[in-house]
Amino acid sequence: MKTGPTFPIETTALLVPSPGSPFTITPVQIQNLRPNELLIEIQYSGLCHTDFLLRTGHLPNVTYPCIPGHEGAGKILAIGPAVKDRSLQIGDNVLLSFTSCDDCHHCLKQSPTTKCKLMPPLNLGCVRHDGTAAYKLSDGTPVSGHFFGQSSFAKIAVVHELSVVKTQLTEEEMALYAPMGCGYQTGAGTIMEVLKPEKGDTVVVFGMGSVGFAALMAAALILGVETVIAVDLVQEKLNLAREFGAACTINGGDTTDVVAEIMKITGGKGVDFAVDTTGVGKVVQDMIACLGQGGTAASVGAPPPGVKIEVDAGMFFAMSKKWIGVVEGEVWPAEFIPRLIQAHREGKFPVERISKVYSVVDVEKAIADMETGKVCD
Ligand SMILES: [Zn+2]
Ligand SMILES: [Zn+2]
Repeated sequence: MKTGPTFPIETTALLVPSPGSPFTITPVQIQNLRPNELLIEIQYSGLCHTDFLLRTGHLPNVTYPCIPGHEGAGKILAIGPAVKDRSLQIGDNVLLSFTSCDDCHHCLKQSPTTKCKLMPPLNLGCVRHDGTAAYKLSDGTPVSGHFFGQSSFAKIAVVHELSVVKTQLTEEEMALYAPMGCGYQTGAGTIMEVLKPEKGDTVVVFGMGSVGFAALMAAALILGVETVIAVDLVQEKLNLAREFGAACTINGGDTTDVVAEIMKITGGKGVDFAVDTTGVGKVVQDMIACLGQGGTAASVGAPPPGVKIEVDAGMFFAMSKKWIGVVEGEVWPAEFIPRLIQAHREGKFPVERISKVYSVVDVEKAIADMETGKVCD
């Protein structure tokens, strides 16, 4: 950088002052930029359940105050001199996703990668790669940032280079595509990159939030799977699921036995693939129970700490079932997000039907609407 920015830089962030306290718009000061970081003016950010875990204090080893946000969309303001992607220019519109260490044997093959040995601390720990804080309050208190390498709830974010996904997006598309970097790639990636169902397979998706809808759209609309079953407690979401290609829906509130309903739909065989986005222990249990011979269940939603489930171990073995955890769809965002954007442009990933834009001052209303199922992200 020949003429870099002058620090400190004054900005604001929607931060969490302490575990359990609400998001608060607060002035913060950016102290510096590392050579492998960029300054991004955040225009939009998705709101994901993992941000709520930061708010409630359920993520380990986080120092407060801290800045959440990990589905950022914004414009490059400054580029550190060691940033490897030389095609990035000041003024480019970019989307933001997770980061990794760029140093372990998995990262050396391709980075960022969900196989990185430092994936949990670097993304969930709200910590910079070198352990320092990029932000501070006016009284000098350090503020943790770099949540998923980005902390996109800052107006100007200090972002690790591996979190940056270069795109050619218009202003309007930035709002629509902000959740690509977590929610959408998690749901769609689990289907397209990990489970890979074929047209004649059966798939069930539990929980119709943004991740569940992305999984449904990927299976039914992008891959053309004919029998996708959607399960939720909110009837309006199930009606929408039908429009996105779900062949059958089950309202968990209308039945005491979701597994029996799935068995009825599949003629007693069970499903080939199942995805749980809820993280609720009973739902995870049902997901494994409803698998057919050789079926695979993917846990995509985070259960609260300490949740245990019961599995019939004998049947699990005899039926050759598999249960896997999938983080961030196990995708490489730089390659996968452009594919999802293309699918959207072809009408196969209609995320404009499940998202809504709120002003930052209405964050509590956005959260309430997510929790009541009025909006998905
Ligand atoms: Zn690594
Ligand atoms: Zn997320």
